[in-house]
Amino acid sequence: MTAVDFDHLREQFVLDDRIYLDGNSLGRPCRSSIDAVATALEHEWAVGLIESWDVWIDRSREIGDLIAAHCLGAAAGTTTLSDSTSINLWKLTAAAARHARSLDPNRTALLVDEQDFPTDRYVVDSIAEGYGFEARRFESHPINGPTVGDLDEVLGDDVAVVILSHVNYRSGALADMAALTALCHDAGSLIVWDLSHSVGSVPIDLAGNDVDVAVGCTYKYLNGGPGAPAFFTIAPRLIEAIEPAIAGWFGTRAQFEMRPAFEAVPGIDRFQVGTPPILSATAVGPAVELLGTVGMPALRARSTELTSRLIEGVDAELARFGVEIATPRAAAQRGGHVTLTHPEARQLSVALRMAGVVGDYREPNGLRLAPVPLYTTPDDVDVAIARIASILANRDHLAVDTSSRVT
Ligand SMILES: *Cc1c(COP(=O)(O)O)cnc(C)c1O
Repeated sequence: MTAVDFDHLREQFVLDDRIYLDGNSLGRPCRSSIDAVATALEHEWAVGLIESWDVWIDRSREIGDLIAAHCLGAAAGTTTLSDSTSINLWKLTAAAARHARSLDPNRTALLVDEQDFPTDRYVVDSIAEGYGFEARRFESHPINGPTVGDLDEVLGDDVAVVILSHVNYRSGALADMAALTALCHDAGSLIVWDLSHSVGSVPIDLAGNDVDVAVGCTYKYLNGGPGAPAFFTIAPRLIEAIEPAIAGWFGTRAQFEMRPAFEAVPGIDRFQVGTPPILSATAVGPAVELLGTVGMPALRARSTELTSRLIEGVDAELARFGVEIATPRAAAQRGGHVTLTHPEARQLSVALRMAGVVGDYREPNGLRLAPVPLYTTPDDVDVAIARIASILANRDHLAVDTSSRVT
């Protein structure tokens, strides 16, 4: 691996005086994304108008291919941008579940981790209700995340689909994708991975692990901007085997022939539903290309260096104030963020923002800090630790107003 010039890389982003440790929630923009959106607005839309559909029509799939190549270890033609992560989870889990049950009528359960992100749990409940499945939840360790042992206990031969998050949104635990996927397959179940907190943060090998279906956000570590469309990706062997759960005109054959009935188009596009959000999709491509110039192995190495430094800083400077680490300490078992816990974490998160360091708060007592390697320096980590120490020592956080809806 040749040495990466991280200072130069950082300059490709729009920076300011703040130390931004919230890229796991909404990444910073790179300049080339802003230029691409400006071009899309001023030329493709304002000048080209409807004629621009010639270039827009393939954009979601082209950016999907970039994400597949640089971040997912998936083949071209298996990945596209579409809707939100929540909608993609719903439509692909429903499609996968109905497929599994059509092959084996006893597969009537959907399994999800009790500690998973709300959308993942709600989606399972709503598909279960709509299509007559049983929604089943299992318990995993709140810091260490789901293990093979946790899943093995509940994975009967009646399970159609398991949904798991690769990196837990709260603790940052990195699940063992290879072992958990193999376990599901051995039990005859399909698996849907939610990669929202791992894509662009840890290397992923979907093809090597023979993953069935995966979805994820593009506005977190992929820096695609607020509301940027999510991606989904499906194993080549399943793309045409499973039937879309939501039939829309963007997924039908001969779209502009306006035929009487839906007939799924071959390829990944069959799971598109309606007109894609072209302007926000446009920001994603340049951001993924920039990430691809460094490559996930180098980014991961730098990321674990930064999260390790953060953990050491907490132990050395913040433990005495009652701050604890609620993220796996082994670098190989965590993703790109570190969660600190403190009884006054909510106030601390607000006070820290006022002091120029942006993290975020998660119930019940967590402060999440993501030193994203694309634009965060080791020095930023040290300064963040020093500012937290100063706030806690002076008890500045007890004077802040925590009524904001954004935490
Ligand atoms: C952020 C996140 C989502 C977000 O879904 P949206 O539909 O984009 O709001 C879903 N799942 C997980 C695990 C997340 O971390």
